Amino acid sequence: WPTTNTRSYDVAVHSVGKIPLGIKRKGLRVVVTGGAGFVGSHLVDRLISRGDSVIVVDNFFTGRKENVMHHFGNPNFELLRHDVVEPLLLEVDQIYHLACPASPVHYKFNPTNVVGTLNMLGLAKRIGARFLLTSTSEVYGDPLQHPQKETYWGNVNPIGVRSCYDEGKRTAETLAMDYHRGAGVEVRIARIFNTYGPRMCLDDGRVVSNFVAQALRKEALTVYGDGKQTRSFQYVSDLVEGLMRLMEGEHVGPFNLGNPGEFTMLELAKVVQETIDPEAKIEYRPNTEDDPHKRKPDITRAKELLGWEPKVDLRKGLPLMVSDFRQRIFGDQKEGAT
Ligand code: NAD
Ligand code: UDP
Ligand code: UDP
Repeated sequence: WPTTNTRSYDVAVHSVGKIPLGIKRKGLRVVVTGGAGFVGSHLVDRLISRGDSVIVVDNFFTGRKENVMHHFGNPNFELLRHDVVEPLLLEVDQIYHLACPASPVHYKFNPTNVVGTLNMLGLAKRIGARFLLTSTSEVYGDPLQHPQKETYWGNVNPIGVRSCYDEGKRTAETLAMDYHRGAGVEVRIARIFNTYGPRMCLDDGRVVSNFVAQALRKEALTVYGDGKQTRSFQYVSDLVEGLMRLMEGEHVGPFNLGNPGEFTMLELAKVVQETIDPEAKIEYRPNTEDDPHKRKPDITRAKELLGWEPKVDLRKGLPLMVSDFRQRIFGDQKEGAT
């Protein structure tokens, strides 16, 4: 292994073209915190398949061993049960920091976003690794600007029920930028918009997983509030492509990574009905406190600087998660997990 991040990075990025065909380039050593989770496990698949050595660090708070089990036995893969709130000593080239209790039912009162991010930045500083933070569109709060550009500072309630997540990620961005400016850490910041796909947590209360699971179980789709609030839904493979481009590129960000296709929750329910069960009923429930009214990314910056844009729209992406959900809900062995 090259000893410094810069050198191994050069090997990966600049010399690949010079290596004669048939000779494999040396992969990078990459840590993915939260790599047993939904997004993390898809990212790990891509990194492993391009020849990197990957260490997943996860405390299985919401992640599952099943998401990465197919790599067990691969010498390029290691799984570490560890809570990033505790310090960690490793030697790697890149750190993708995804660990986070990522949904409303899980994220309350958890110090991961602040203490965990601080530890991973301390690790990046000590070993000279490049560090990518997965921040969120939630930093925009209930936005007064639409669609949201990266230059928008957001409208966040600092003492509300969602604050632990929103403000936690805002603090994580602040820490990342301070380590970048103060200690010269190479950081990258992604602001991720609502993402869906196979391996999503079944019971964490997010709208896409709720609707898909409800339709499969022949239950009514629970629409919160009047269902006119909007979100923009991104398929997970598009996100993973964006994260890797951001990590490999030269720009710190922040970058919005999301699909600009905007849907009301009632429109989403309709797509789920069309995809899974046209007979599925809709049931209205009271909305949660501080629910953002609308959200849609302006992705001009990512298009221009990363050459990235999403390719899979909701009507194409939603069917791709159905067989995985069906198998996890009913244990149907005939349906292969995607
Ligand atoms: P997820 O819950 O599936 O994955 C998070 C992973 O982090 C899980 O495997 C969990 O066990 C692990 N984890 C949590 N706390 C930890 C700790 N203290 N130490 C070690 N591991 C810990 O969620 P996801 O959707 O895959 O989200 C991944 C990242 O992307 C998160 O940082 C999240 O905030 C961000 N994000 C996701 C979305 C989305 O729509 N999926 C949107 C915006 C931002
Ligand atoms: N840290 C870590 N692994 C390392 C280096 C640091 O987990 O390899 C943690 C360390 O325990 C500390 C945090 O990262 O809590 C910040 O480290 P830094 O060196 O920036 O700050 P300091 O320890 O000097 O306060
Ligand atoms: N929502 C809904 N039914 C559900 C779960 C969520 O109508 O069963 C709504 C929720 O009130 C919010 C939107 O769907 O307006 C997106 O919620 P989610 O938790 O998926 O994402 P976030 O609010 O973090 O963007």
